[in-house]
Amino acid sequence: MFLTGNQIRQSFLDFFARHGHRVVPSASLVPGGDSTLLFTNAGMVQFKDVFLGTANAPAPRVANSQKCMRVSGKHNDLDTVGRDDTHHTFFEMLGNWSFGNYYKKEAIAWSWELLVNEWGLDPAKLYASYFVDEEGIIPDDNEARDYWLQQPGFNPAHLVKGNRHDNFWEMAETGPCGPCTEIHYDFGPEACDKQGVEGHVCEVNGDCNRIVEIWNNVFIQFNRLSATDFQPLPKTHVDTGMGLERIVAVLQGVKGNYETDLLKPLLDETQRIAGQSDQERAENLTAYRVIADHTRAASFLIADGVIPGNVGRNYVCRMIIRRAARFARTIGLKEPFMARVAKIVVEIYGQHYPELKREQELIYESFTREESRFAETLDTGFAELNLHMQALKDAGKTVLGGYEAFDLYATLGFPLEITRDILSESGFSVDEDGFYAAMEEHRLASGKGQAGIENDSQKAELYQALDKQLHDDGFLSSEGVIQDPYTSLSQTSQLLAIIKDGQIVESVSQGDEVELVIQHTPFYLESGGQVSDTGKIVSSAGDWEVAIDNVIKPSAGLIVHLGKVLHGTPQLQDKIVVSVDLPRRRAIMRNHTGTHLLHTALRKVLGEKVHQAGSAVDAERLRFDFNYPQAVAKADLLEIEALVNSYIADEYPVIKQSKTLEQAQKDGAMALFGEKYGAEVRTIEIKDERGRVSYELCGGTHVENTAEIGSFYITSESSVAAGMRRIEAVTGMGAYEYARKRLDLQNELSAHLQSSPSESLAKVQNLEDSLKASQAELEQLRLRVAKVAFASQMDNLQTIMDVPVLTATIPNVSADALRELADEFRQKHESGVVVLATTINDKPSFIAALTPDLVKRGLKAGDLVKRVAKVVGGGGGGRPDMAQAGGKDPSKITEALDQVAPYIKENLK
Ligand SMILES: [Zn+2]
Ligand SMILES: [Zn+2]
Repeated sequence: MFLTGNQIRQSFLDFFARHGHRVVPSASLVPGGDSTLLFTNAGMVQFKDVFLGTANAPAPRVANSQKCMRVSGKHNDLDTVGRDDTHHTFFEMLGNWSFGNYYKKEAIAWSWELLVNEWGLDPAKLYASYFVDEEGIIPDDNEARDYWLQQPGFNPAHLVKGNRHDNFWEMAETGPCGPCTEIHYDFGPEACDKQGVEGHVCEVNGDCNRIVEIWNNVFIQFNRLSATDFQPLPKTHVDTGMGLERIVAVLQGVKGNYETDLLKPLLDETQRIAGQSDQERAENLTAYRVIADHTRAASFLIADGVIPGNVGRNYVCRMIIRRAARFARTIGLKEPFMARVAKIVVEIYGQHYPELKREQELIYESFTREESRFAETLDTGFAELNLHMQALKDAGKTVLGGYEAFDLYATLGFPLEITRDILSESGFSVDEDGFYAAMEEHRLASGKGQAGIENDSQKAELYQALDKQLHDDGFLSSEGVIQDPYTSLSQTSQLLAIIKDGQIVESVSQGDEVELVIQHTPFYLESGGQVSDTGKIVSSAGDWEVAIDNVIKPSAGLIVHLGKVLHGTPQLQDKIVVSVDLPRRRAIMRNHTGTHLLHTALRKVLGEKVHQAGSAVDAERLRFDFNYPQAVAKADLLEIEALVNSYIADEYPVIKQSKTLEQAQKDGAMALFGEKYGAEVRTIEIKDERGRVSYELCGGTHVENTAEIGSFYITSESSVAAGMRRIEAVTGMGAYEYARKRLDLQNELSAHLQSSPSESLAKVQNLEDSLKASQAELEQLRLRVAKVAFASQMDNLQTIMDVPVLTATIPNVSADALRELADEFRQKHESGVVVLATTINDKPSFIAALTPDLVKRGLKAGDLVKRVAKVVGGGGGGRPDMAQAGGKDPSKITEALDQVAPYIKENLK
């Protein structure tokens, strides 16, 4: 039975759903809350916090199909994408997960059942590997071995041992890790690409294409403390990954991923557009594969809000579209066409990934815009690169300098990856470190995305030990510290732990910097762009007070309040009152609800294609980033601002609810890019019987009614990256202060103008008019003075060969005045050359004029003035009898005029 790629994905998810798994949607390609990662690159990314113990699992058993992107700036293997059947930038990873639930026995049995019984693969073609430590330190995974031997129909001779490189998984040098078992598929002897190579044997983890890994089951079993210390974890987990494209190729019995029904239609469409024959397609397969892979990847990126741009993720999107466009040239495609290929991507994938359908217009437009932009510089870029290669060849070198490569990118939009592609095809390479150094210099590199995970392991251990102890002693429930920023801003509780200087202590005193753990907190913890609360903790007895300036969540169940003891001596077990700084919190809430209103207004005025790309909300202001190709017009900004203020004036209630993610999406709630949502979500709905203004998934804190926001002003609109805009705004008292400052400024201006505020604009216009009139008058006077001075020079001519020549510097006149003086010279003299200079705004300016007889004798005013202006670092031109020029260095005017004589001598016939 033939299964389509979509059916295969679904049958995987259905199979594990039948075995008690909750099927969760793919996380965004933009990892939520993980600044160390450019893109989601594996199924486990969205569960990393679960394995690290700082988040709870959505369910004990989970299955999903995760969108993954593997392409990063430095030294990546992008070059192989398109050149073979298996490498991709974008791919889907099928996975099933156990969080402290089932383990090796079930995982192995289900793998076998799905592959053999469900999908009907021939057991004779399946191999499995299990971990055996070549260093003899980590225990061998004999459990996995034994479970494999129990699978019905499994050939014991197909069970092989694997070493640390192939069969042991770890996230970092310390922390959770464990052995894995891999399942390999034998494509048959004809698939071997090392046939006839002496000594070659086709084998699992060998060096040919015949036996290929299709599924990896990782068993997270140990906590690694050092190179040799592997402690068993109290709870063990399963993490599996199976590349969808490869298993589809296996099940559809085709040679390579690009022959599957997931990718082949993209190559077919490209062939239709290019109008090539099957043979031409076969001869240019690399180009076809690159176009298919990159169009698919960029479509998914754009659907997740990553549009082409200059830095970070946006750069990657730009780079892959341009790389595809470059290859498209090799099959004769010069006009934008990828939107047509992207349509097929939406057709194939839109059912399972509805974001593609939702954003299809944005996807098509982004492709066409990016292709057109690149087309403008592509030919020049090729030519430039050819010159570089010729120069390298002449110099006997093979490596293009990083600075040159960067210059190609900065001036002609050639991403490094494309330069590298083209160079390598002719046997050259590029200094990539030099490229990045040059990029750094130009500060194009984003400052973000570099920071490593904070590796304060001692502190992490302290928190984890504390977390465990408070649970064991019954002070904390399984939920951990109860956090409720929604129902009350003040709370009685108990002081459970005090940390000072990284040590757990019994009490602290005035002036100490402390970290406090309490049972129940009303503080909001920074997330979704909203800052953490500040406030205070006081003893119920009133004998001590700690000012709290931050809260953090260092492990799944623990919330820590950071602050300073203002007075008294806090003691363990003290009864306490915790209160949030109310005025600050209210300002934050006004800004947060204001952000939601702004989001709605933006989409109303600029269109539904506008999406939030990030936001930041604190007590002073709100900041909102969104995709938009150009600066927002002033009139649109005013309309957006007015719309938000009308929502405020109309006093809409703000309704907060908690429901399942599924229900919320069914009800039409908007989810945001890059945010992680649990199974249970909070929704913020702004509506009443007049209609719905906004409905978003959001864990932030909000006002009860839009009227509380008071008023809203946009204070700035700017660019953050290509295609990405930022609006900043103020609300409430912040809005009042903003308006007050503006009014003060205006009052001061009117006072200076000695007019009322309403009359000051007219007054300024009057002043401008009279200033202009005075300047014109001054210009006239200067001209008259200049004419008088010029008249006295007019007869004071040099004669060069037989030509009367006048060169002079006339101070304080305009270019027009110079021209007038030159005309006067030509009226007075039947034959002659005049070259005049002046200085305008510290820059030299020249005019040269000739009488007609001299033009006939080979002199050209344009050539003359160019030669003169060259001395002052400038240039110019004009008619043969009159020309003008400018320059840079006024100190060389005299030297410049000295060029007149030699010019005449050299050119006069
Ligand atoms: Zn082989
Ligand atoms: Zn929100």
